[in-house]
Amino acid sequence: MIVAYIGLGSNLDQPEKHVLDAMAELELLPDCCKVKISSLYRSAPIGPQDQPDFINAVVQLETELSAQSLLEQLQQLEQKHGRVRTQHWGPRTLDLDLLLYGNMIIKTEKLTVPHPHMAERSFVLCPLLEIAPELVIPKLGRLSELYQRVQMDPPVRVVLS
Ligand code: ATP
Ligand code: CA
Ligand code: CA
Repeated sequence: MIVAYIGLGSNLDQPEKHVLDAMAELELLPDCCKVKISSLYRSAPIGPQDQPDFINAVVQLETELSAQSLLEQLQQLEQKHGRVRTQHWGPRTLDLDLLLYGNMIIKTEKLTVPHPHMAERSFVLCPLLEIAPELVIPKLGRLSELYQRVQMDPPVRVVLS
C-alpha cells in the first residue's frame, strides 16, 4: 500500500462541483481508498490571465496501483469530466496531478514525481499542508518550510454554502 497525494484543479463549468465530484470518484478507483481530503481553495490562474479563477484541493489516497496505472486512471477521470487540451495552462474542467507517490522519485517520459512545479505553487502547498502538516517531500524537504518560501499570494479557502 502506497500513500499518494493528488492535486485537483478546475476553473470551468461549476468548478466546485467538478472538484467535489472528482474527490468522490477518486475513492471509487480500483485498489484505492481515499484517506483525507483538503478544503477547497480559490486562486488566480497561473499562465494565461484571461481565464476564470481556479478551485483547487488535495486528496490523500492509499493505493495498490502502480504510479503509471494511477496516472492513467487520473487521466480517464479528466476525460470523463470533459477535459479538452487546447492552450498550455489554459482553462480546464478538471486537472488531476499526481503530486507524490510514497517517497518515490519517478522520471519517465509521461510521469515526473514529485510533481515538478509543486514546490512553487501555494495552491498545491496550502491544501497539502492542511491534510499532511508533517510531510517531508523527497528531494524538496519539509512541506512547512517549502510553504514559507513561496512568494505567491495564498489561495483563499472556499466556504461551501
Ligand atoms: P502542470 O504539469 O504544470 O501542472 P498541466 O497540469 O496543465 O501543467 P497537463 O496538460 O495536465 O499539464 O499534463 C501534461 C502531461 O504531464 C501529461 O500528459 C502527463 O503525462 C505529464 N505528467 C508528468 N508528470 C505528471 C504528474 N506527476 N502528474 C500528472 N501528469 C504528469
Ligand atoms: Ca496541473
Ligand atoms: Ca495535469
